[in-house]
Amino acid sequence: MEDRLKEDIIASGRFGREPEHPVDAFEKLDPDKGVTRPTGSSANMKTRTYAVEKMKEAGLDVRVDAVGNIFGRKDGINPDAGAVMCGSHLDSVINGGQFDGALGVFSAIEAVRRLEDEGYKNMRPIEVVVFTGEEGSAFGITLLGSSTLIGKISYEEAFARRDPKGRTLQEALEYMEYKGDFFMDLDTVAYFVELHIEQGPVLFNEKIPVGIVENIAGIAWIYATIKGVGNHAGTTPMKMRRDALSAAADIVKYVEKRANEMVDRLGSATVGTVGKLNVYPNGTNIVPGRVELGIDIRDVVSENMESLKQDVSAALKDLEQKYGVSVDITIPTTHSPEPLFKEVIDVIEKSAREANIRSMRMNSGAGHDSQNIAKRVKTGMIFVPSVGGISHAPTEWTEWGDIENGVQVLTRTLRNLTQIPEGKVLENNDSVQGSV
Ligand SMILES: [Zn+2]
Repeated sequence: MEDRLKEDIIASGRFGREPEHPVDAFEKLDPDKGVTRPTGSSANMKTRTYAVEKMKEAGLDVRVDAVGNIFGRKDGINPDAGAVMCGSHLDSVINGGQFDGALGVFSAIEAVRRLEDEGYKNMRPIEVVVFTGEEGSAFGITLLGSSTLIGKISYEEAFARRDPKGRTLQEALEYMEYKGDFFMDLDTVAYFVELHIEQGPVLFNEKIPVGIVENIAGIAWIYATIKGVGNHAGTTPMKMRRDALSAAADIVKYVEKRANEMVDRLGSATVGTVGKLNVYPNGTNIVPGRVELGIDIRDVVSENMESLKQDVSAALKDLEQKYGVSVDITIPTTHSPEPLFKEVIDVIEKSAREANIRSMRMNSGAGHDSQNIAKRVKTGMIFVPSVGGISHAPTEWTEWGDIENGVQVLTRTLRNLTQIPEGKVLENNDSVQGSV
C-alpha cells in the first residue's frame, strides 16, 4: 500500500528529465541535470495528465478552471459542508527536483486512497488541488494559479502573461489542453492543507521527521543601481575615483551584518541576501562605473521586514556622500508574511501525535500557494525533511521513510479535519463571528 505513493513520485519524476527516465535513489541523481517542467511545457502536461489519471482512479471527480488549476472532488456525507482542500503544484523551476510540489499533490491523492481503503466516510467533501504555475519559471510571477483563484490578479492579466517563447498563458493552457471552465468558489472550502518538502536544513539537521508551519515568511526585494565613474584602472589615482563596486561592497556586508544583528537582538527569523550583482563594464582594468544590486529580505514579522528594508535603503543613500556616487532604488511588490491558522496547526500536531511521529513547529522561508489560500481559507502546512536542506536543484531529495511519515500525518489530518462539525449557523451570524 505504501508503495503506491513512491511509484507515483518516481513515475511522474521521469517527466522533465533529459532523457526521460525514472530516479528511485539519491545516488542515481545526476547533479547537473534535474527536472524542468515549467507551466505549458510538454513535461508539465505529462505530469498533469499522470496526476489526473491517478485522481480518477481514486474516484475523484476532476474539474479544471480557467487558469488550469485542477480540482478532484470526493463528496462528503454532508456534500454542502465546507470542503477540506489538499494539494500543491506540478510545475518546477528550471533544473529542479521531483519532490517540490509533486510530493504534495501525490500525497493528497494517496491520503484519499488510504481513507478509502480504511472504509472511512468523510463528513466534509475533500478537494485535491493542483495549482498552476507556482514557481514562476515560465510566466514571470510566482503563485500564478492561486493568485488568480483568490482574485489577487485578474483572469485577463493572467491569460495575457507571456513565457520566454512569447506564448501567452492562454495559449500555453490550450496547448496542454488544461484550459477549463470550472470555477472554484473558495467560500465552499473550509480548510486547506499543503504537504511540502521543507527546502531548508532545519528538519534534516534536527532529525525531526515532520514540521508544522506556523508562518510563511514575507518577501521584499530592493533593486538598486549605483552610478559612479568608469575609468582607467591604471591612470585614475585612488583619491580621484568614484568606484561603484567599492560602494556596493559596503551594502553586501551591511545587509549581512544588519540581518545578523536583528537575529541576535530579536531572536527573529530575519534573512537578508544580496543575491544579484551586475558590474559594468566588468573589465579587470576598468574602475567599475555602474553596479546593479538585487537584495532579498524575508521575515515572518512585517515590522522586522520593514525595518530592515528601511535600514538598507538608508545605507544605500549614504553611499552618495561617502563615495560620490548616485543611487537609484526601486522596490517591487512586497509579499507580506502570512501566519497560518492555529486550528489547523493544532489538528496537524494532534495527527502527528496519533501517528506516533515526532513533529516541531517552524516557519517557512520559502513562498507557497498556501500563503495565498490562507487569505481566504483556514490553512496549514506540513513539511518533510529535505536531504542536506537542498531544493530547487538537481540534488533535491527526500527519503522514502520521511515521505511515508508525512503522508501518515496528512492522512490523519484529512480524517480529523473532515470530521469537524460544520459551524454553519454560527458562521452566518455576525454577532458571534470569531467565536467559532
Ligand atoms: Zn513548491
